[in-house]
Amino acid sequence: AYTAPDKMAVNGHFASVGQNGDANFENGVQVIDENKEFNADLAKYLNYTGVSHAGFNYHLISVFGSQSTGKSTLLNALFKTDFSVMAETERRQTTKGIWLAKNKSTSTKMADNILVMDVEGTDGRERGEDQDFERKSSLFALATSEVLMVNIWEHQVGLYQGANMGLLKTVFEVNLQLFLKDRKSTSRSLLYFVIRDFLGTTPLQNLRNTLMQDMGRIWSSLSKPPGLEKSSIDDYFDFAFTALPHKLYQPEQFKAEVAKMATRFNESRRDPRRDALLGEFEGGVFLPEYHRRIPADGFSHYAEGIWDQIVNNKDLDLPTQQELLAQFRCDEIMREVMVDFDVAINPLEAQQGDAARTGKPEVIPGLGAAMKAARNEAVKNFETEASRYHKAVYQRKRTELESKIDTRLKALFAGQLNAAHKDGVQQFSDAVSAAVKAGQKKGASYDFAEIVKEQKEVALQRFESHAKEAVIQGLSWSNYKQEMTLFQKDLDKISGQLRRDEMRRLATRVERWVRSKLSDSIGVEFNALGSGRSGSGAPETGDKPSERDIWDRIWNLFTSTVEEAEKRFADRAASFDASAEEVEVGIWRLRRKSWGVLRSKIEEEMMEGNLLLKLRENFEDKFRYDEAGVPRIWRPTDDIEGIYTKARESTLTLIPLLARFRLSDTGSPPPLDRWIGPAPAAVTPADEEDLTPIGGVDEDEGKSLEEETTILNEAKRQDLTVRFKKAADGVYVEAKRSAIGGMTQ
Ligand code: GDP
Ligand code: MG
Repeated sequence: AYTAPDKMAVNGHFASVGQNGDANFENGVQVIDENKEFNADLAKYLNYTGVSHAGFNYHLISVFGSQSTGKSTLLNALFKTDFSVMAETERRQTTKGIWLAKNKSTSTKMADNILVMDVEGTDGRERGEDQDFERKSSLFALATSEVLMVNIWEHQVGLYQGANMGLLKTVFEVNLQLFLKDRKSTSRSLLYFVIRDFLGTTPLQNLRNTLMQDMGRIWSSLSKPPGLEKSSIDDYFDFAFTALPHKLYQPEQFKAEVAKMATRFNESRRDPRRDALLGEFEGGVFLPEYHRRIPADGFSHYAEGIWDQIVNNKDLDLPTQQELLAQFRCDEIMREVMVDFDVAINPLEAQQGDAARTGKPEVIPGLGAAMKAARNEAVKNFETEASRYHKAVYQRKRTELESKIDTRLKALFAGQLNAAHKDGVQQFSDAVSAAVKAGQKKGASYDFAEIVKEQKEVALQRFESHAKEAVIQGLSWSNYKQEMTLFQKDLDKISGQLRRDEMRRLATRVERWVRSKLSDSIGVEFNALGSGRSGSGAPETGDKPSERDIWDRIWNLFTSTVEEAEKRFADRAASFDASAEEVEVGIWRLRRKSWGVLRSKIEEEMMEGNLLLKLRENFEDKFRYDEAGVPRIWRPTDDIEGIYTKARESTLTLIPLLARFRLSDTGSPPPLDRWIGPAPAAVTPADEEDLTPIGGVDEDEGKSLEEETTILNEAKRQDLTVRFKKAADGVYVEAKRSAIGGMTQ
């Protein structure tokens, strides 16, 4: 298969992309290719070499110099890298674009994570088109690297017009260009001259002086941007110099010097004055102020952005680039931490959602702990990774992350409180009902108010413990004050409802008592009618009840019975904290219901058959017994007809008397309307629902008090009269017969 020659390294290594498309990082990674394209594999390479997670603990060196001055050879010797080098027998450019590799030396004297960029050199013989790339690569290197190594032959030192001077001029120019946009930055760079094929005849100190003078001249020849006219080369650069013997002629010395040089790639402290005196430095090359402060995990993206600006000839603005990088990386890191957050929180949200949809929200145990853990984890991980980036951007993104997280947690929190509320309310009302039932079972009079108070306390405590567990300290939204108040209000509402239920039960009990009381006492009154001797026909003895006063007695019995019931009702209601209004309504209902009880009792007694029987008994009593209560033995001489007529007329007076409930002193119906009284203001429609209307009391009933208290209508009265007379006639005929029969015996 044909392989394009420029894809193939001269020494036989392939370029960074292997045949199967996977990255092959043996030679490092080509960051910028020969077509000035950025290679996104840089990120993969940094991952592959483990540098991505180093944060700021990495270093970047760039190497410059003319083609074929042994740069790649030197880097490979220093860092055990595999940059392509020109075969010693050939003369061809090898390094294309910019390559990057990580230091593979295991020397403990070297710093961690040293990344080296091997920059394609210009050919001193044919500059021109290459100058554009030189400028661009210098700018790229300066924007990213801490140390710029400049590789030059000893015999080129002092050749002011040489290619190296052109390179240095470019470096200084782009440096000024960068600083114009980034004056606040304190970052400096180390210009590290490596003098190759050093013979040793001229002391390094002299070479150094020559180079410094040349650089001074270059610097002063530059037209500086406004504001930087007075600036000095030392404002931006530190300088270091190392001389190396010829690799081919003095291989042993070369090796030894390279080994010595390698030990300087660390962070040990350096004394520039001492270095200047020595003409050589002793400390490490990586001073903190050289570091560009781009976190390793963002380096690839940053480098890409910068290269994009450079290659498109845009003004390179590092602060803006750093801000863009921060935005990009903070967003990426946010997405990453949100993945873990989702893993922890999604199931809880699903659980809550499912429960809510079924209408039975449930309290999720340990929700608060899970929320706290997920939040802390996310924020902590975000902080660890993202806080290395542009401070303002980081702060803004952190706020964004927190609000994203808190929106979710807030909903969970609200759901938990809602569940605790609904659950709590249900449990409360169940517990009160159960306690009441237990109290009823025991038969003892239980203390309803006490039960409610106890259960309310239990419910509030349970609610608060659920709520407390779900609170995340330090977040203003994470509090349950309002919800607790709402919960308490609901408990009060439910207590009110339960108390009303309890009142109803009490009312029912009291009504039952009234019913049984009236059933007895009213029954006695009607039974007494059967005994005619106590009736109107008998002489008034004062202590015997008279038939004429029957309604007075019934009314009195009724009102006094209900009065007693009211007292029982009010006493008991007070024991469970019923309000005065509730008691008032209860009594009003009791009176009305009791009236209903009385009416139906009267109606029962006055059913046709019952009443006819009573009238007949009443009549017979008057007819068959004399004033002394002795049974009459009829004789033909007796005035049977007279006695009969008297007794019958006496009994007949009962019919109009019983037909209408009237008090004897006024001849009017009892003051039922006044006695029941107007409906209290606190009466609700629910209170009136099961009440029967009462004539003369409920105005819109269209029925008067007279009608309400009319027990027998005219037709019934006449019918009753006729039937009673027939029955009485029968008794009379029988008496007549017995009188005659008695005589014949
Ligand atoms: P680069 O283009 O600067 O990266 O140079 P290379 O590392 O590819 O080397 C170019 C040529 O210089 C090769 O043939 C090397 O063998 C040779 N070379 C390497 N080191 C030295 C040295 O110290 N002195 C001299 N004179 N040649 C060297
Ligand atoms: Mg090279």
